[in-house]
Amino acid sequence: MTRRRRLIIAMDGPAGVGKSTVGSLIARNLGYHFINTGEMYRALTWKALEEGLDLANEKAVVDLAKSLKWEFRPTEEGTLKTFIDGEGVSARIRDERVSANSSLIAANAGVRRFLCRLQRRLGARGGIVMEGRDITTHVFPDADYKIYLDASIEERARRRYRQLRAAGQSANYQRIKEAILTRDLNDLKRKINPLSQASDAIVIDSTHLTMHAVARRVLKMIEADGRPRLAGG
Ligand code: C5P
Repeated sequence: MTRRRRLIIAMDGPAGVGKSTVGSLIARNLGYHFINTGEMYRALTWKALEEGLDLANEKAVVDLAKSLKWEFRPTEEGTLKTFIDGEGVSARIRDERVSANSSLIAANAGVRRFLCRLQRRLGARGGIVMEGRDITTHVFPDADYKIYLDASIEERARRRYRQLRAAGQSANYQRIKEAILTRDLNDLKRKINPLSQASDAIVIDSTHLTMHAVARRVLKMIEADGRPRLAGG
């Protein structure tokens, strides 16, 4: 009997489309690790801001990235969380300041090369769901499954608005929409590895779907292909 290989499932898509929710649902079902690569760009942005670096100074930011000790520790659910120099940063890198500044870090060629190497190493043995902006096109162009998750800008802004309100925070729909549009534009027009749909990616529009429904669709596809034994599906 041939042993079934553990898959690489790559996912890209614009900001706020639910890649993390969908990705972690899929990973949990398969007993795989889930990796949100945006967290790495955010972690470096946060650290560079903390250190008072000029984010436009490409060399200084690359040197900072190389000087840090990067670790990725799994939660009980299998999500790999970023630790730099022994410190878990996931909780402090989601604010607007980090979001807005991460585009500059993401346009830095040296940073992209460095983080891409880390990401390939993390996925080398398979058994991962990895999401970001260039995972299907650049990091793992030969992934077993390549998914491009999309949704209308209005729906993405609405979801973010509801999330913030549910967390008891103030939120302005129009401002949220503009911030998402700006980030999308930066990711789309970046010279190095911009966000784009791989020609052979499976495109899923989640505008009218729940995250569970999207995850189920992907899992059914994998199951139908007779790929790995599903843990809970
Ligand atoms: O996914 P998230 O929105 O948290 O990512 C933060 C930023 O990191 C994105 O706006 C994008 O500029 C950058 N990013 C990237 N390539 C990836 C993942 C994230 O350029 N693979």
